[in-house]
Amino acid sequence: MDHERFPQASEATPSSLSVSVEDPVYQRLRGVIPEIEWAIHSPLIERIDRLKKQRNAVILAHNYQTPEIFHGVADFTGDSLALARIGAETEADVIVLCGVHFMAETAKILSPEKTVILPDPEAGCSLASSISADDVRRVRDRHPGVPVVTYVNTSAAVKAESDVCCTSANAVEVVESLGSDRVIFLPDEYLGDYVARQTKVEIIRWEGHCEVHERFTADELREYRQQHPGIQVLAHPECPYAVLREADFVGSTSGMIRHLENSRPERAVLVTECSMSDNVAVELPEIEFVRPCNLCPHMKLITLPKIVQALEHLEPSVEVPAQVAKGAREALQRMLEVGRGERS
Ligand code: SF4
Repeated sequence: MDHERFPQASEATPSSLSVSVEDPVYQRLRGVIPEIEWAIHSPLIERIDRLKKQRNAVILAHNYQTPEIFHGVADFTGDSLALARIGAETEADVIVLCGVHFMAETAKILSPEKTVILPDPEAGCSLASSISADDVRRVRDRHPGVPVVTYVNTSAAVKAESDVCCTSANAVEVVESLGSDRVIFLPDEYLGDYVARQTKVEIIRWEGHCEVHERFTADELREYRQQHPGIQVLAHPECPYAVLREADFVGSTSGMIRHLENSRPERAVLVTECSMSDNVAVELPEIEFVRPCNLCPHMKLITLPKIVQALEHLEPSVEVPAQVAKGAREALQRMLEVGRGERS
């Protein structure tokens, strides 16, 4: 396979800079991407645009992707479930999923006829790798008859062993929809803890953690408040409960965006992966963001050069065995039914 060499930041010339920074896309991004970096990104973005048309492809980017991907090449952005739903509705033949492996699997499960590509196959997730399908079977054996609710941040094989999936936005609703006194909640211990505090249903937890959100501390949040009086603190429910207790708002990445759009605080801190603040700051420039930087190393494996390679060679594609896909699709569909019930 031919691999092209991409220019490095040190090779950017003053003339290439002066041309590329006039790009209207860059005008929106100048607050979050330095000019010297844009000189590298700009030709890659043009190339990706051309390849997308040739391949009849769409690029779906998670909220934790870097701004040059999120604002520069993505056709659709959102949290993992939103991306999967969009993927299922698109007319495109090819989906390039800029996120991590379980997200690409979910897109493939909901769009089996499409080619789904993850630009770096090593982009995993500490939550997804904390549990296997065998583990789910063992937990079930220990708690016979107790239904299993599984967070979408899991492999297709784990979803296939579950009764129903959930997201951080609908976890309480999904748990309560089962009409059971006890529920096995996998694999995020902290999200399970958060759910348990909002329902009478007994929650049996697993000890999986997100390596990004588990690093935040309550002391850190108190420090933000001391240093920035009046700041709005928004936290993701994958954080430990001691952290969530210090927040003004707890919600999924999409929930955080909606909350900011509605409340328009002067200053805010998003207690989640650090690219999220950059991406929201482009849309809501009037809000001053204090930016703690806890990077997800898996999300950051996706880069513009890898997206170019993925579109040129239509690989690495993600496949899910038919039997696993069937079970996982049923667990996802049951979750979507719960949401539909609420809307009607
Ligand atoms: S931020 Fe956490 S939950 Fe999301 S992909 Fe990275 S490790 Fe997984």
